[in-house]
Amino acid sequence: MRPWLWAAGLLVWLAGPALAASGLEVWPAVAEQGQPLVVKACPGGQVTGAEISLLGRRAPLAQAPGGCLVGAMGVDLDDQPGPMVLEIRQGQRVLASRALTIKARGYGTRQITVDGKFMELSPEDLARHQEEMAQQKAVYASRLPSMLWSGPWQTPLDSAVVGVFGRRSLVNGQPRSPHGGVDLRGGVGTPIQAPAAGRVALVLDTYFSGLLVLIDHGLGVVSGYRHLSRAMVAQGQVVRPGQVIGLVGASGRVTGPHLHFDLRLAGARVDPLAWIKASAEMARRLR
Ligand SMILES: [Zn+2]
Repeated sequence: MRPWLWAAGLLVWLAGPALAASGLEVWPAVAEQGQPLVVKACPGGQVTGAEISLLGRRAPLAQAPGGCLVGAMGVDLDDQPGPMVLEIRQGQRVLASRALTIKARGYGTRQITVDGKFMELSPEDLARHQEEMAQQKAVYASRLPSMLWSGPWQTPLDSAVVGVFGRRSLVNGQPRSPHGGVDLRGGVGTPIQAPAAGRVALVLDTYFSGLLVLIDHGLGVVSGYRHLSRAMVAQGQVVRPGQVIGLVGASGRVTGPHLHFDLRLAGARVDPLAWIKASAEMARRLR
């Protein structure tokens, strides 16, 4: 599009519903692919059942003092860059809105080599994989309206990053989906701690991710821990921050032992380390 046309379009955009943005804070100022957003709205008065809406994703909000609402939203790794509108909705009613421009973010490319059994799946393995994906998808669809954690998150494993978030992968020379989490160094048996309180939503031995644990923290926030050698929690269990939830392993499609830590916000894949920082911002806005 020609720059002047784009600018004219932006003016129309800004003159539209964005004027209702008073009292709506979005952090950080720049929305990028694969990054979290912390949202605070102060519509005034008691508002129940309000949600953040972006690109068809919805996330419930927590109550903050002064009739304000605070929540988290994600920009997925594969969301198209460009202008869009973030809204605070109560059913069909738009309480506030803000025009945002999603910026592209390059995370690089990695090449890995794995056993051939992970490239060509037998019909049985494919059926197993699809069933495992369906179970995880059901957890990612969770929108518990209550916030099960409080305060800033901590790291689940205090060690070096050996695989960064968002890299496009070439597996045995073939393109695969981008790296949806961060790989943290750890030997087999190293304890993994819950970074925040939540409820264990899934413990499952899977084809690609090996033994995994998913924790639902409420408000559409779900964290994942993959390639474990052992799970120390059971489905449905409530965990407190710092509680050991499992041990590092090398199960599933891996090139060696490590913890794959990932995070979804309203279903969007975001950088879990960026979320740890964002969670401190969210805690600040909830005070
Ligand atoms: Zn990984």
